[in-house]
Amino acid sequence: MLDMVGISYVTDAAILLIYAYAGTTTFTIAGAYGVCGLLSVALFIAISEASLTDRFRDHYFVTQQSIISLTIMLAFLYIAPEVGCLFLCSILLVFTFAALRSTPRQTVIGWSAAAIGLAILFLFTDKPIGMPHETPLERLATLLVFVLVLGRGMIVGLFSSSLHESLYRRGLELKEAYKRIEELAELDELTGSLNRRSIMQTLNDEIVRARRSNMPCAIALIDLDWFKRINDQFGHPVGDEALRAFAITVFANIRSIDKFGRYGGEEFLLILPETSDSAALRTVERLRKIVASLDWSAISQNMTVTMSAGLTALRPDDTADSILARSDRLLYQAKDLGRNQVVSA
Ligand code: GH3
Ligand code: MG
Ligand code: MG
Repeated sequence: MLDMVGISYVTDAAILLIYAYAGTTTFTIAGAYGVCGLLSVALFIAISEASLTDRFRDHYFVTQQSIISLTIMLAFLYIAPEVGCLFLCSILLVFTFAALRSTPRQTVIGWSAAAIGLAILFLFTDKPIGMPHETPLERLATLLVFVLVLGRGMIVGLFSSSLHESLYRRGLELKEAYKRIEELAELDELTGSLNRRSIMQTLNDEIVRARRSNMPCAIALIDLDWFKRINDQFGHPVGDEALRAFAITVFANIRSIDKFGRYGGEEFLLILPETSDSAALRTVERLRKIVASLDWSAISQNMTVTMSAGLTALRPDDTADSILARSDRLLYQAKDLGRNQVVSA
């Protein structure tokens, strides 16, 4: 941005030189204008290099930059009104640049300052403000004023559309990142229980904790019975509803220290820390009874859902894999025994 502002000042100073050759204004005006402009740009480059802008919400100092540029334009409009069209056009450019980064508040401040400055110059001074076009050289310089302002305006426009383009791309990247965050998040979307990644992490943590505190810990692998049939008979959305109702029922009947997550499909893992074998069996057996006696017809007529579970206690040499393999075997025994039952080691 600052480079563009600097180039813009140099361009205007060059046109002022042509006016000076034509005798419209003086070489001093051309030189002074270029120096003032470049000094203001150097000031903001220094501030930016010193990282002084980082502390401000507006890193680009848009208001300050526009006000300083505006002051330079208005001052030269006053000092050299004979080439006033150049400074008036440059004020338009200042605001085109500023609009790229301005907040509504900054826009109002900038516009008010410009309006007041111009009003003073137009209403309280009587020097004629010129658009020189007497000689061929003057006509050339004035042509350059307009054509080059238009050109710079278009460059600002291009800059703004590339900004839009990069914003759009950033939006897409954010969307991707958000999706990834959701995947990594802890909860299973359908049931609100812990997702597989999270319940596995919890299982590992609980194994470590039980070992350290020398407390018992029980793990139940729970699978809903004949769930394929439920889907076939009542439809997949009803199946989903049943999964949700099952999870809510479990949550309503376990302690806050118990951990419950979806291991996959219609298979869930229940971790009961600090729980003896007999207490764990009572808990899971109670869950089984509650699920079986739930009024499933409230979801769909004639529907019943039951669960089977393989329950096992943590052993000293257990890993997450060994404990899961054991509870899986027990779960299959429960299925073999006719389902709707809990088999414990
Ligand atoms: P079993 O008593 O032996 O467990 O019989 P099952 O039909 O439950 O056995 P299986 O594990 O083969 O089938 C599980 C079915 O669960 C298959 C699948 O369509 C269904 N299922 C898995 N995940 C979802 C889900 O998110 N929503 C719904 N509606 N159904 C699911
Ligand atoms: Mg099943
Ligand atoms: Mg299954």
